[in-house]
Amino acid sequence: SNPILDIKDLHVWYRTYAGFSRVLDGVNLFVEKGEKVGLVGEAGCGKTTTMRSVLRILPEGQSHTPQGAILFHGKNILTMPERDLQAIRAGAVSMIFQEPSAALNPVFTVGTQIADIIRYSLVGKGLAKEKIKEMALQAIREVYIPDAERIFDCYPNQLSGGMKQRICIAMAIVTPRELLIADEPGTALDVTIQDQVHRILKGLVEKKGMSLIMITHSLGVARELTDRIYVMYAGSIVEVAKTGDLFAKPCHPYTLGLMSSVPRLAGGGLAAGIYGHIPDYLKPPQGCRFHPRCPKATPKCQEEKPPMVDLGDGHQVACFLE
Ligand code: SF4
Repeated sequence: SNPILDIKDLHVWYRTYAGFSRVLDGVNLFVEKGEKVGLVGEAGCGKTTTMRSVLRILPEGQSHTPQGAILFHGKNILTMPERDLQAIRAGAVSMIFQEPSAALNPVFTVGTQIADIIRYSLVGKGLAKEKIKEMALQAIREVYIPDAERIFDCYPNQLSGGMKQRICIAMAIVTPRELLIADEPGTALDVTIQDQVHRILKGLVEKKGMSLIMITHSLGVARELTDRIYVMYAGSIVEVAKTGDLFAKPCHPYTLGLMSSVPRLAGGGLAAGIYGHIPDYLKPPQGCRFHPRCPKATPKCQEEKPPMVDLGDGHQVACFLE
């Protein structure tokens, strides 16, 4: 296989007033061309930090030191010059965020904002204004907004949350991209609207042959949208499998806990089926970071970090019990 994105042993530490916060503790994750991958875990497990590292958009003003490698078509994003990174942001990878309002500029119409993306993209160079507008309208129609002309001239605050998130999807697909990273795009919306947004997203990714990384706290959402799922806990991947295999034979105690929680009722992204909390990253537990919450922990789990064990067919789990 020849993945388009290959994250290898990614560590991210933040320097805080109280010391080093060791958020990512060796993340390994790859995405094949056209593949839809889920990255699942509770709020605070490091999903967003992982994906922000891919576009090098970690929070500014906080000192952080990513280590490891993030290979995009074999080139390391962590060390590439800003110019190459700009090209990836403008032409290869796009991201959809949890909160659509934060991604849209309130002082410009949505049409202007979509047109700007085209204008600054690789395909937009030298295109006539009318052609750009036509492409923008087409993108608005593709997210199932029928009255595209009217919406084109709206300001974000004139639209509902669901409409704004559709516009964000339109912005993410209006120019050709290889990879779309969606960070809990339905979280701010009610459940019905969230389902619509997810379905639109999935349909467009498939139609355009893009790869998708769907970040979510809900295994249920990941099950509906993805081919393969990475389960993340406290800064590491603890289990990965094809979506069907993960549900047929979940192995990691954390995955089992997530499955026994009711995703729709868990609300804030907490795993109701598991006792306790995500650890303090300033003083993460030694050994397996899950051991303080694990019903099956042994003394060894407190001392050594369990290695990834290969169960075959791409199913891997980081637990001494396997
Ligand atoms: Fe639980 Fe030990 Fe497995 Fe960690 S390694 S998940 S603590 S049994």
